[in-house]
Amino acid sequence: MSAFDRRLREVLETRRATDLYRQRLTLDSPQGPRVRWQGGDYLNFCSNDYLGLASDPRLVESLRRGARDYGVGSGASHLVCGHSRAHAELEEALAEATGRPRALLMGSGYAANTGVLQALLQAGDTVLEDRLNHASLLDGGLHSGARLRRFAHNDCADLARKLASSQGPVLVAVDGVFSMDGDLAPLVEQAALCRQHDAWLMVDDAHGFGVLGERGAGSVAAAGLDSEAVPVLMATLGKALGTAGAFVAGSETLIEALIQVTRKYIYTTAPPPAIAVASLTALRLATEENWRREHLQTLIARFRDGAAARNLPLMPSPTPIQPLLVGEAGRALQLSEGLRARGFLVSAIRPPTVPAKTSRLRITLTAGHTVEQVDQLLDALAELSADA
Ligand SMILES: *Cc1c(COP(=O)(O)O)cnc(C)c1O
Repeated sequence: MSAFDRRLREVLETRRATDLYRQRLTLDSPQGPRVRWQGGDYLNFCSNDYLGLASDPRLVESLRRGARDYGVGSGASHLVCGHSRAHAELEEALAEATGRPRALLMGSGYAANTGVLQALLQAGDTVLEDRLNHASLLDGGLHSGARLRRFAHNDCADLARKLASSQGPVLVAVDGVFSMDGDLAPLVEQAALCRQHDAWLMVDDAHGFGVLGERGAGSVAAAGLDSEAVPVLMATLGKALGTAGAFVAGSETLIEALIQVTRKYIYTTAPPPAIAVASLTALRLATEENWRREHLQTLIARFRDGAAARNLPLMPSPTPIQPLLVGEAGRALQLSEGLRARGFLVSAIRPPTVPAKTSRLRITLTAGHTVEQVDQLLDALAELSADA
């Protein structure tokens, strides 16, 4: 057996033995509150389609129109000849929606975070990151050439200490909404600390954009912060907006410089223009249809009240991400399977995505859910935890 074969077999065996083996569900339906899997219908509480837009007929129609007008493939990278009017219009609309001079489309949030950090930072700099940041921010910091230092989750005293003892230009990078916890970064305090120490603040708003703030402008706008307080804003289009891709928004200088030097922007094929056409429609619906955010808030309150009444150990979260803390990976898996047997899809989030002993059920609510569906989930959760 070759060294690689042996290594890979070991990976699989270890994952199986520690309840960390991961398997994909293959769905046979569009994304939505109800999905089809292995011939059965399931109530879906694990997507990030927070506004329920992923299979909205108006998005589907826009994608069709985009394909009719632009074909399917972009054919090249943005800097060669893959940049279309559709991409340009979406960038302008995203800049306006976030109240910033410019926005730059990227193929994915992972590429945006790693690309921006690698473009912005160099040896001699320091990047300070919340311990619970998304893997893409941590990976970007790790491979940026700068010194990566992590501070305790949402701990402003720890951040202040690390700001005071850091060398060179300093970038602080945080998730606006933490993806596995659902809680918010203390952006107002963090922005004040950054101003005090002449550091830049970057916010990854993958889970806030479309969901928080007036017209869904996101967690930075909701905190009342402008592009001077938060010079680098990144958000994704594959979550609340229901399409795919991501963007970075900021000053003219930031965006023009990113276009010149971001390897993950330069050396990759531009996303299909039709996706940009669909995203433009999604952005319009996400900003205009306030009822989606209002209904989501109703569901969040309903779920939290219901969980408290049933003594379910919810983590503190004001967002559609409502994790139920379990602890051991095996138990989380067991609960997730128990829910599946009752017709609910809820994912068990285990290490290395979250720290050891903090495995959880990551329940997500969307504007497509009804109050009755949320109640059904609560009843199933209560039944299952009584069985424990
Ligand atoms: C999903 C996510 C990303 C990655 O975005 P993709 O477009 O899915 O690559 C980045 N940051 C956070 C916080 C996320 O939740």
